[in-house]
Order: sequence, then structure tokens, then C-alpha cells
Amino acid sequence: MPVKDYLRLRFLPHIWCPGCGHGIVMSGMIRAIEQIGLQKNEVVAVSGIGCSSRIVGYLDFHTMHTLHGRALAFATGVKLGRPDLTVIVPMGDGDALAIGGNHFIHAARRNIDLTAIIMNNRIYGMTGGQGSPMTPQGMRSTTSPRGIADPAFDIVELAKGAGASFVARTTTYHATELTRMIEKAIRHRGFSVVEVLSQCPVYYGRQNRIGNGMEMMKGFRDDTAPIGSKKKEARPDLIERGIFVDEDRPPYPGGRGGTNETTMQK
Ligand code: SF4
Repeated sequence: MPVKDYLRLRFLPHIWCPGCGHGIVMSGMIRAIEQIGLQKNEVVAVSGIGCSSRIVGYLDFHTMHTLHGRALAFATGVKLGRPDLTVIVPMGDGDALAIGGNHFIHAARRNIDLTAIIMNNRIYGMTGGQGSPMTPQGMRSTTSPRGIADPAFDIVELAKGAGASFVARTTTYHATELTRMIEKAIRHRGFSVVEVLSQCPVYYGRQNRIGNGMEMMKGFRDDTAPIGSKKKEARPDLIERGIFVDEDRPPYPGGRGGTNETTMQK
């Protein structure tokens, strides 16, 4: 099916700025769903608030645009009520890890069968470029004009530590890899996290003088390396891409008639 058949064309043109990475992620999501062969009415996309969360407005699936930081809570309810549906949660880094951080760690802990796609542009884009928990130390935002003081989270380490059974990282530069990872994450039974380094040229790029969208994507190419690659060996400072965790663990039971085996055993 052509990509446009997965879109609500009546809501286009989209609101994203020229050079923003979120459209690449949306395209990766669509291609992954097509490759798996899911029907549009078998998919639910749930988002919170932020530029990235606007994805659900453009996708012609069952969609919910919910509260800031609460996407995983709503998605959990959807999955427990309709375990037969595929539930995908596109989020920004602020939405997922600041106000939504508590929901994130508990969704991972429970290994609920959801796919969280975190578009990490290292800033709050929609509300004017404030620092997020993913803004690297020393980098500028509108709330840290002299450089942010706090260390950033490492999404991969956080997801692993909280118990996610599938954890991956890629970038918008690596579009084919992005599609492949989202496909594997959706196929995985349990809580899946795909971190996507995505560019916000308007706030993060401009405030930190990194350049336009194209230049930021070149940075993703140059500053990342596949897990265990020679490139990484030679340059340990590079950010690793790839699948860090892929474990077969029973997902959180639920849904109509579902039982919690752990509770039942006690
Ligand atoms: S503000 Fe940044 S994240 Fe938001 S649409 Fe513009 S470029 Fe994308």
C-alpha cells in the first residue's frame, strides 16, 4: 500500500518545521507496519503532547492524543482492554522521561506489550526549546542559556535497568535501520523501546550552533557507530546504535479474561 494510504491527508500539511526529523520516524513506523502486514484497524497509536506526539494526528490508525507524559498510561489501558491490538506509543524525550518518566519505568518493569518510540531531539520543541532530561550537560536551551547543569539520562541504560525486554537505538540518518528496528520492536512480545536520535534544527540546532537539519543528520552519521563495530572500537566516545536487549520474557498478562500468573501462583 502506498505510504499516503496510511495518512489522514485532510490534516496535511503537517505542523513540523523544515528539517525536523519526526517525519522520517513517521515514515519508518508506516513502513514497519506495512512489512509486518498489519491492517490499519489492528493498530492503535497513542501519544502524549509535543511535536513528536502530533504523529498520531496524521496516521490513519486508531489513535489517541492524550495528556502530557501520560501516553504510556493510556496505552496500558488500551492493551489490557484489547490485547489483540498492536499498541505503539510515539513520544518525545521530554514527554517520555520528564513528566512521563514514572510511567516509563513502570511500563518497562511490568513488561507490558507496547512499543515505545522515543524521538530524542534533546529539547522541548513545541513549547519553545526548554531543556529536557536528554539535553546533554553543557548544551544550551532557553532554560539554560549558559549550558545545562544536569547530566542527561541514557535512555538505553534506563530502559534496561527498568526491565524493558527489547531496547534499541538508531537515528533519523539511518532510515532503513530505523524501519527494521521498529519492525522488530513491534513483533517483540513485551515492552519495547526504540530510541531515535531525531533533529530539532529550530531550537536545539540553532541554540547550540549545530546547523540545519541536514547538518544535524550528518552529525548522527559521524557521531554514532553500530554496537561492537571497529568504528566504535577506534572511537569509544561514539554513541552506539543497534539492539541492546532482545529477551523472550512473558509480557504482563491482562485483558478480558486475562490472569496475572505471578499473583495466581502465590
Ligand atoms: S520545533 Fe523542533 S521538534 Fe518541533 S517541529 Fe520544529 S524542528 Fe521539529
